Amino acid sequence: MLSHVEITARVAVTSGAHFVWSNRLEYSHDCFVCRRVGRTVALHHGATHGVCHSSRRQLEWQDDLDDFGVHPTPIRITGFDTGSDGEVEVLRCRLSFWWSPFADVKRPGEHGSELAVRPWVRVHYRVGCHTCRDSGRDDWFGEQKSFQSNTVWPVTGSCPHCRAELVTMSGPPEINLV
Ligand SMILES: [Zn+2]
Ligand SMILES: [Zn+2]
Repeated sequence: MLSHVEITARVAVTSGAHFVWSNRLEYSHDCFVCRRVGRTVALHHGATHGVCHSSRRQLEWQDDLDDFGVHPTPIRITGFDTGSDGEVEVLRCRLSFWWSPFADVKRPGEHGSELAVRPWVRVHYRVGCHTCRDSGRDDWFGEQKSFQSNTVWPVTGSCPHCRAELVTMSGPPEINLV
């Protein structure tokens, strides 16, 4: 079956900030290729498939040695729109994936579904500081950062140099089957 999920993330941005979404994300996924629930897939806009890996690598590394480990899987980003709504930067992302029911190969009581039991997403972005840009700092545009569903809200971010407040994330991204 072909299914679709829509993800919407919002970030409030101050007038002193320069904000850009990244075109990659990580997403919770019940993967019918390796027949495991609660995997993590890494997605990149433009890539023809996702990459499935364990999200519990450190806890279950032993377990991982005899399963599929890291592998390609049929999920990809089929819609990627960014825009702003006043002072809020909005990312709308559609994921499309092939799916069929399965029982988890290591936990027979758990069944794969279109949406993970506790779906989550990690989105990436870069933000820069206008004040530091205008004062001539070469590194005014910060490194890639991310936030994910299962964190403590709200999340705020400020400039590492001048401490100006730049971004506020008030709640987790929405994840909906469509
Ligand atoms: Zn998999
Ligand atoms: Zn600054």
